[in-house]
Amino acid sequence: MLRGKIIKPLGSDGLEFHPAHYDGHLRSLDSGRIRALTQKRLSQVFNQARKIPFWSERLKDISPEISPLKQLAQVPLLSKGDLLAEQAKYPPYGRLFSTTENGLSRYTQTSGTSGQTLRWLDDGASWRAMLECWAMCFELAGVHSSDRLFFPFSFGPFLGFWTAFEAATRMGILSIPGGGLSSEARLRMAFEVDATVLLGTPSYLIHLGEMRQNHGSKVPSPRLLIVAGEPGGSIPATRKRLETMWEARVIDHAGMTEVGPTMVECTEGPGGLHLLESMYLPEILDPQSGQVADHGELVLTNLRRLSGPVIRYRTGDLVAKDPVPCPCGFGGLKLKGGILGRIDDMVFIRGNNFHPQTLEAILFELSGLSEYRAIIHRSGDLAKLEVLVEPLQGIDPSGLVDAADSAIRARCLFRAEVRAVEVGSLLRAELKARRHRVEG
Ligand SMILES: [Zn+2]
Repeated sequence: MLRGKIIKPLGSDGLEFHPAHYDGHLRSLDSGRIRALTQKRLSQVFNQARKIPFWSERLKDISPEISPLKQLAQVPLLSKGDLLAEQAKYPPYGRLFSTTENGLSRYTQTSGTSGQTLRWLDDGASWRAMLECWAMCFELAGVHSSDRLFFPFSFGPFLGFWTAFEAATRMGILSIPGGGLSSEARLRMAFEVDATVLLGTPSYLIHLGEMRQNHGSKVPSPRLLIVAGEPGGSIPATRKRLETMWEARVIDHAGMTEVGPTMVECTEGPGGLHLLESMYLPEILDPQSGQVADHGELVLTNLRRLSGPVIRYRTGDLVAKDPVPCPCGFGGLKLKGGILGRIDDMVFIRGNNFHPQTLEAILFELSGLSEYRAIIHRSGDLAKLEVLVEPLQGIDPSGLVDAADSAIRARCLFRAEVRAVEVGSLLRAELKARRHRVEG
């Protein structure tokens, strides 16, 4: 069970929050309490949404007299394309945000790695709700008030870790920014400030971890790596690689700019993600039938970010419900194996359904691999997969190509064209590595 309050609740500085507003009394968040909170908060979401033009149009045929859950069932699913179309029609922000009461003071945007950029705005209350999400994440992740958090990247306009950083500072946890520096300088700084927790994308922390190994560093490791932004944190081969190279525990986290920080792994039930169900109402829908299922696309309704509500938002993430209660005692939905893949990424290659994410699971098991890229070539009905592998320093490239070739053939049941590239030639991204590309 959770050990109770290991960190101060948000707002204990008396500046921003009343502790009673904080859901972080995690042991009391059993399924019954979550259901009660959900009903109350969903009703607030509908009240607020009806004041926002985009939503008042979308909800105009749904009676506000029926229960919030019955209203929810009648709301059409919302896609990122719907939000982008609204912003294209009413630039630059669309009619998606509250224009009354509190000012919209925070700007973030999606990274645009998969096309158009979505712009998002928040008022103070919505922003603080996301800080509360992070407070819950830190508690589930086992972060202590004595920890020193190091953020080895620039935050840019992306929601990413802005909210994590701010939540931690308000909770009285030392939070150290590491943006605007070279990777070497960041690595040095992480040790100079004696960081106990590193936060970042799995691929960037792998890059830093390799540099640390190449430098033959004997300095102490951080004890926790909190990773987000890519699926790697829930891919066993990637986790193992990170945990081995840093001698630290990996905690996976996931979120979306337009929804918020939504999920985290706990210390007592590794290999799965807890959805913060008092903050986000989840549905899992079969992608074909649209019916409720235990395995399918995750659809979320934001319950606390009232300045820009999203109701029944299609996340595009494939997930599976874990039927076994987590030993930590935290109530609500737990996703087995984290995010299993992206619905849009699935391609059909030589008679097989193929999720590019499986490549990460296969290739990061190869001990000689440093980084890779996959290019899916589509021509007519036939697709083929090209894979570029970058060896670690001192590793024979042809041996790595053979190992990658046979591992892909054994697990995917088709052949890929595998080629080796020079050490250090594949770009390392600080935020969201895109290892897979579709051409044709
Ligand atoms: Zn748990």
